[in-house]
Amino acid sequence: MLREAISVPKLLIEKAVYKVKSLGIVRKVDELGRIVLPMELRRLHDIAPRDSLEIFTEGDNIILKKYEPQCVFCSNSEEMKTFKGKNVCVKCLKEALDQTKHSD
Ligand SMILES: [Zn+2]
Repeated sequence: MLREAISVPKLLIEKAVYKVKSLGIVRKVDELGRIVLPMELRRLHDIAPRDSLEIFTEGDNIILKKYEPQCVFCSNSEEMKTFKGKNVCVKCLKEALDQTKHSD
């Protein structure tokens, strides 16, 4: 059960580690802890103003990833709905509804 819960972020971090390369860009952190992502990096990764980024760490490294909500049950990120504050895909919602119909 625990292994299943951590499998998704672990996979993403492993994928990022294999593709690490220096862009030769150094940016200073400002007084509020902010940095500016270079324009070419934002274009390349399709990051627009107000988009959300998810933050991971791996040893001494900080990894940023464009945030895509995933289903809490199956990790799918298509057709997402929010149910009681949790992201759930339509497929899992239908499956849950089917189970309530057949539980009698
Ligand atoms: Zn799902």
